[in-house]
Formats: sequence, structure tokens, C-alpha cells
Amino acid sequence: MHEIQYDELGQYRHFLSVEGSSEALLTKLLDDTEQFTAVAERRVKKLPLLNGKTIVNLFFEPSTRTRTTFELAAKRLSADVLNVNIATSSTSKGETLRDTIANIIAMQCDCLVVRHSTSGAIHYVAEHTPAGIAVVNAGDGSHSHPTQAMLDMFTIRRHKQQFTGLKVAIVGDILHSRVARSQIHALKTLGAAQVNVIAPLTLLPKSIETLGVEVHTSLTSGLKDCDVVIMLRLQKERMNGALLASESEYYQQYGIDQARLKLAKPDAIVMHPGPINRGLEIASEVADGPQSVILEQVTYGIAVRMAVLSTTIANQQQQLNNLATKIAETANNGGLA
Ligand code: ASP
Repeated sequence: MHEIQYDELGQYRHFLSVEGSSEALLTKLLDDTEQFTAVAERRVKKLPLLNGKTIVNLFFEPSTRTRTTFELAAKRLSADVLNVNIATSSTSKGETLRDTIANIIAMQCDCLVVRHSTSGAIHYVAEHTPAGIAVVNAGDGSHSHPTQAMLDMFTIRRHKQQFTGLKVAIVGDILHSRVARSQIHALKTLGAAQVNVIAPLTLLPKSIETLGVEVHTSLTSGLKDCDVVIMLRLQKERMNGALLASESEYYQQYGIDQARLKLAKPDAIVMHPGPINRGLEIASEVADGPQSVILEQVTYGIAVRMAVLSTTIANQQQQLNNLATKIAETANNGGLA
């Protein structure tokens, strides 16, 4: 489905989804991320890897962490960054996604980092982008958020060292969560022993169990023996219609506080992709407590995005070089008149 994201050697030329990626490819990204975390410890937090390259952040949906950490990642790799403000762009004047992309491409950029409210929109962008330009998915509808999943995997690996044997719970609005979908694919590929999704029936997608997860409608059964507890936000902006009796009832049943966290293993880590809603899905005592790694996730987001940007842009460059070599060879062999 996402074949377009690989070059002929099976490496990422775009980063659209973790679904279908091999364990080796995901592990390589995590290993590259490990290298990039060291850059932040330097006096000058910069590497010249993407010097002279231009990266455009094109966010058609609101973002705080993802956009800023993509920008920081690009700057730490010495790229030039352009943030297009969609609210004041021609999209509000009726320009289509295809035309917006065509115009940005005409500005000779090397990478597009795109967020869009429609599932599949980033794949569409990649299909309409010429060779040499990398497209990175920064979240599309409720489909996929691959860099978030990889920063989550990196955080888990840092704390638990390996995925084998791990039991992970994902709690909350699974139905609308692109993060949950990408996390499930990544966890299953990297070898987690068990992934439990915990939510009221109204917030569970149909046939979610076909992804290889165990479905629970109660925290008591779902959190038992878990090493990792991932909390999700209620995505009210994507809900059309009442899916919950009331927010307070939701919190009573699915919100996590210190007492309910005890249902998981004593050394379980608590994660959340943000933005967190205190008192709605997570109590402050947990969000700010000793088991929370929520802010570490944000920090690791920079290194993961450095790994993704440098990999995709380098592979696109390599493809252009290969193409140039082929053209030169054909010309030398008299193939070009
Ligand atoms: N920040 C994440 C996303 O963009 C999660 C959320 O918004 O709740 O999908």
C-alpha cells in the first residue's frame, strides 16, 4: 500500500507510514535516532548534513510539538526551513491541495513535511511530487502518524531496552487516533508480546482485533501486567455525534490516576502523544509523576525527525545521482542522439 515510500533498494525515500515496514528498517531508524540524540549534548547543537537543503513544513491542521520539533530537527541538520502558514495561505481562497503542492515544488525545495485532516492526503502528495523531493507524513486524518510512533518506540526502547516480551496498553480514543494505529503497527513489527487497546465500545474502530491487538473495555483487565501505558486524548474535533455519555463518566472509567496506574506493573512507564487534557484522560499526579515519560517523548521527537529527514533526503539525492549517472552512461554509449 505504501510501496511508493521505498526506493529500489527498499530504503525510505518518503516516510508515509510504518505499516508494512520491516523490523530491520524500523530498527535502523531507531539506531540512527540514538546517534542523533547526542547532537543535543554538544555546545553547538548542529550537524552540517543538510546544509543547502530546503525543508517546507506544510501543516493544514493545528500542531504544537510535531511542527516545532520538525523545525528544530531540520535546523539541527543545518537545513533552511520554511513554515507555510495555512491559515493565511491561498488554501483559504480555495486553492486545491494539488495546486498548493505544485507551487511549493516550483520553489525548488528538497522535502515537504505535511499534516492534513484527510486520511491518505500525504500519500496523494507523494504521488504528485517529482523525484528528488522527499515527502514526510506529519499526521494524516485518523490514518497514520509515523514519526510520532517512532519517537514512542524510541522512548520505550530507552526505558525497556527491548520489545520482546513487552505488554503495552493503549487507552482512550482509539477510533480517531492516527497515533494508536501507527503505534500498533510499529509495536507488532518490533516484536512486542501483547498490545491491549482499552476503550468504550463507541471509541473502538470496527475490526481493530484484525491488527493483532487484544480488546478490553475495562482498565482493570486491560492494564494487568502492562509495562507501558499509553494514554490518548479524546479527539473531540473529529467526533460528529455523541460518542460518550459524559466526560466525567469517561474519566471515572478510563482516566488514569495514581490508584488506577497501580493496575499495571510497578515499573510501568506512562506515555501520551500530547496535547494532554488533565482531569479528562490523565490526572496531574500521573502526568507529572515519577512514571511519566511524556516530556522525554517530546525531546526524542527531535532526534527521530532528524533521522527521518536525513534518511529520506539522502536517499532522494542518491536516486537523483543514480539517474544522472545512467543518463551520462547512455549518452556516452551513443544512446542519446
Ligand atoms: N498530537 C497527536 C496527533 O496529532 C495526538 C492528538 O492530537 O491527540 O495526532
